Amino acid sequence: MTTVIPSAPDREPSAARQTLLILGASGDLTARLLLPGLGRLVASGTAPEITLIGSGRDDWDDGQWQRRVTDSFATVGADGPREAALIREARYLSADVTREDDLRRLLALCQGQLVIFFALPPMVTARSAAALCRAGLPPGTRLMLEKPFGTDSISARSLNDLLTELVPEEQVHRIDHFLGKSTVLNILGLRFANRIFEPVLNASHVACVDIVFDETLGLEARAGYYDGAGAMVDMVQSHLLQVLALLAMDAPPTLTARELRDRKAQVLRATRLWDDDPAAWSRRARYAAGEVAGRRLPAYAQEPGVDPARGTETLAEVVLAVDTWRWAGVPFRLRSGKAMAATRKEAIVTFRQPARVPDGLVGYEHPDRLRIGFGPDRLGLDVNINGPGNPFELEQVRLAADFGPGDLPPYGEVLRAVFEGDPTLSVRGDIAEECWRIVEPVLGAWRADEVPLTEYPAGSRGPADSLIGPVPG
Ligand code: NDP
Repeated sequence: MTTVIPSAPDREPSAARQTLLILGASGDLTARLLLPGLGRLVASGTAPEITLIGSGRDDWDDGQWQRRVTDSFATVGADGPREAALIREARYLSADVTREDDLRRLLALCQGQLVIFFALPPMVTARSAAALCRAGLPPGTRLMLEKPFGTDSISARSLNDLLTELVPEEQVHRIDHFLGKSTVLNILGLRFANRIFEPVLNASHVACVDIVFDETLGLEARAGYYDGAGAMVDMVQSHLLQVLALLAMDAPPTLTARELRDRKAQVLRATRLWDDDPAAWSRRARYAAGEVAGRRLPAYAQEPGVDPARGTETLAEVVLAVDTWRWAGVPFRLRSGKAMAATRKEAIVTFRQPARVPDGLVGYEHPDRLRIGFGPDRLGLDVNINGPGNPFELEQVRLAADFGPGDLPPYGEVLRAVFEGDPTLSVRGDIAEECWRIVEPVLGAWRADEVPLTEYPAGSRGPADSLIGPVPG
């Protein structure tokens, strides 16, 4: 069985030329994620004509920037004539983007529909947005921002206020590349285009929901970004809460940006820490030295660029309650860990046991589970059947299917949506604030040391005091 929900209908590239202005062009995010996504989008032939302008404080010339773009495009095989034409015309301007004069010089280079990507540290983004308010923007400008959106709900709100002073909310794209368009549509298609799942996705039938993003990768030289964020902000506050919203929300009548984001906001407003007790229902830990997939990793605290005194966690767990009619009493357990024994990117819905297994059927051990895997997107359904051999003995089997892959990597999908002016998948301002509200009690308790920072060996299944334990395999 294969369910394929296409990521997008056949599409024509939009004719009008657009300018993509990247602030923070010399940074890690631009090189590793943004430019490869752009390269694949351009190679697909579905992008509009794009003028690419990069800016950073480094004193690069156009040639250095063009080489950076060429190298990043090459990592995804984007080396055709369309990409070459874009690279030939790419411009670079050295600027301090927190200064109004520098921004005016940059804006003077931009033509047509303008998209500004803030690939900047969060504090610099806020200062740059304030300077843009003074410099003024061409009408219709779209803004793209990476996580984290602020550092808490108060800073997120003031950033939101600044952004909406610059452009209307529909032109602010707070991007979440974890949930590319194909993944979101796969979850929505599974839930709302099938009669069999939706009637049982509620507290009467579901025992708990786990949303897990474990990876075998360690820090991978990303201390500059990661050591200031940690697993809770990097993954749980941002991506995993978006997955929770899609799994727990009610059906939107249409997939318009407004309806979809209203439903997500509604369910996140009803979400809070289980028992409001961070000591009982959150965990934080960082990896100690160990071996992962045949590779020796040093302890996180020894990684270059890490300040061990910060106490940054590489594994975060939290148990949340969704106080709605549908989900009251069902724990949603979220976890993300680095340097784990195995990669798991999954949401697992564990169903309650049947009211009664008839006498005579033996071997009932495991409840039914619905599994939704991300990247690659997969569906699995664990059910109990009378397998081969003794017909009275139950065994659990997995019905599995792969969803069709999206035609672009997540950053390509995100960029395409922004060039099309479609904010459906971007995180609306109130939703970003709500996500901070949910995790703030936990982050506060961690800062106050009310929850100990424990350790787990790299390559293990996590800390001994895990709330979730080994995720059922
Ligand atoms: P880097 O530190 O690698 O890059 C930051 C960029 O911002 C550099 O190009 C830097 O230029 C530029 N910059 C800083 N201050 C100014 C200024 N005043 N004027 C002009 N340019 C300035 O950061 P990342 O690329 O890692 O991260 C960028 C954003 O993306 C951050 O918000 C981060 O949280 C987010 N993010 C990053 C991820 C990643 O994997 N890297 C993943 C998810 C989110 P210069 O070299 O001159 O300092």
